[in-house]
Amino acid sequence: MLAADFGSLAQAVGQVASTTNWLHLDVMDGHFVPNLTIGPPVVASLRRHTGAFFDCHLMMTNPGDYLQAFRDAGANLVSLHVEIGGTDALIESARRLGLRVGLVANPDTPFASVAPFLASVDLLLLMTVYPGFGGQHFMAEVLSKIEEAHRFIQERGLPVTIEVDGGIDSTTAPLCARAGARIFVAGNAVFGADKPWEAVEEIRASVIGALDHRD
Ligand code: ZN
Repeated sequence: MLAADFGSLAQAVGQVASTTNWLHLDVMDGHFVPNLTIGPPVVASLRRHTGAFFDCHLMMTNPGDYLQAFRDAGANLVSLHVEIGGTDALIESARRLGLRVGLVANPDTPFASVAPFLASVDLLLLMTVYPGFGGQHFMAEVLSKIEEAHRFIQERGLPVTIEVDGGIDSTTAPLCARAGARIFVAGNAVFGADKPWEAVEEIRASVIGALDHRD
């Protein structure tokens, strides 16, 4: 939702309601990343307009202080950056609140940093741009990390889904799909389009096409 008009977020949600039931909400604290976006009150307001799954990407230095507030606001899943440390305790706190849990790695964070935690999370979010601002270009060098993560997860039979975030559109999503990603966060490609729902359909079709034509 980072690329949506923040003055009309409920309408933006309505524009894609026919084609997706998963919304990715970028929370930035002005500290872990320089930008500031939304917090629990906005999540709670949006919750009154949709039953969609809320995937809250917490770009925060102290997410532990806000997990309960996000849960109470209607978050379904919180994704926590591994770079901030204290990962085991954060995952446990989120679980205790009944939240689904994702772990996030920045483009320059090696897979080895997240691997030890994958048995206790639902989702691995691999950033394909440096977090903080929308509208950045996809970093193809992350593809090898997606492949590495996919192999690790498959070999161990872990119930972890790989999500990608940053510069995702109908050109880059298929590359990530072939590498092993299954959840695709698109901001500008969707809300920068005249018809956001068509943009979602186009990205979905590009992914299905890529997975249908695998060697
Ligand atoms: Zn995000």
